[in-house]
Formats: sequence, C-alpha cells, structure tokens
Amino acid sequence: MTATRIIRPRRSGRYVLFCDHARNTVPAELCGLGLPASELARHIAWDIGAAGVTEALSEILDAPAVLCGVSRLVIDCNRHLDASDLIPEVSDGTAIPGNLHLSEAARAARIETWFHPYHDAVESILLERAAAGAPSIAVSIHSMTASLAGIPRPWKIALSSHRDRRLADPVLAALRRPGDVLVGDNQPYDLNPEVDYSIPFHALRRQLPHLQVEFRQDEIPDASAQRRWALRFAQALLDCPV
Ligand SMILES: [Zn+2]
Repeated sequence: MTATRIIRPRRSGRYVLFCDHARNTVPAELCGLGLPASELARHIAWDIGAAGVTEALSEILDAPAVLCGVSRLVIDCNRHLDASDLIPEVSDGTAIPGNLHLSEAARAARIETWFHPYHDAVESILLERAAAGAPSIAVSIHSMTASLAGIPRPWKIALSSHRDRRLADPVLAALRRPGDVLVGDNQPYDLNPEVDYSIPFHALRRQLPHLQVEFRQDEIPDASAQRRWALRFAQALLDCPV
C-alpha cells in the first residue's frame, strides 16, 4: 500500500492542492485499529467526499494534487508532530483501541511510514516549482460534517485563513457573489498555525498565497456533486487577481 497519491505532479497550473484526510484506509497490520467498519466509515476516520473534490479540482485547474493515503486515525497529517491528537486516542467520543498505549517505536514507525512521505511529496513539488521559477498557490482541501453536536452548520462551504488574506478575500467574495449560499469565513474553523500543520508548514513558511477550504459533506455525496462544487470553487480561484 502506498501512503500517498500524487496526481499531475508536474502540471503548470498555479495551484498546488493537498488533501490531508482523503482516505479512511487503515493498513492491514494495524487491524482496523480495533474499530468496526461502521466507525471507520464515519467522519472521524476521513474527510468524506474531499478526495473526489480534490481530484476534480486537479483536473479543472490542471494542478498537482497530493492525497494522503491513510486514515487520520492512523496519523493526522494536519497536526504537528508533538500534538496530542497526532495519533488520536479518542475522536468524537469514539475510543480508538489501536492507538492506546502506543510505544515510542510504533509511534515513530507511523510518522516515518505515512506522515513524512506525504509531506515530502508536497515539499518536492513545491521545491521543484520554485527551482523552475514557477509560482505556487497552496490550497488544502477538507470536508466538514453537516452538523456538530446536533446543531446544523449553515455554511455549505467555508474558508479558513490566517493573517494573509490575499486568496481568502477574493475567493470569499466570488463564492458569495451569487448570493445563494452561506460561505464561512474562519467559521466553523479558523486556520491556526499552532494546531494546523499543512498550510503553515508548506505555505506560511514560504509566504505563499494559500487557503484552507471545507466543503460540507452533505453537499458532496457523490462524484457529480463533488464536480459541481469543484467547478464553482475553481472558478472562484481562477477569478482571483492573486
Ligand atoms: Zn480535514
């Protein structure tokens, strides 16, 4: 099993896409982390629908895309290596038996096997483009549940940004322009460099324009819906003056 899937690594579009929580795959040797298949199908294991949106965006934007190949319950590639939830023991009320009392060796093996290859893949694409003088704009693609603790989320799509709003402001304006959907602006999640890892490490560090986006999962249930949202988001990106 490969940890990381790379699509169109050398395409010339301005955007570089990555999807930290693309899959709910648990390597066979981890025995499903002791969880039933029903738990591994839930959002705790992955960002449902996000991989399909990423693949469609990669095609529409002619952009490289890197998709993590393992569940975030195996290792969360959007967390710092010293974060307590890098390998979560509990997620949304579900205890993860295969993550309890993990030895240092087992922890190190997960980092070496899945975390580093995924981020190395993003890094090598960005380095190669920089060496060739090609600009890069980093976009991190996620999905969010339709409700949290029983409270529906009103935003069908939400952008997370930090102080650099070069991409967030124009994309927000473009998505809101038709007036048909609520678009979250740092709601329900902001981009927190202390918590999030991928955009801070790959984009903030290099001062690349960037965005983290959350598509609401009930809006992207199948390939055609994923493509529809990818088209709308891609158009907002392409309209950007950045
Ligand atoms: Zn995510």
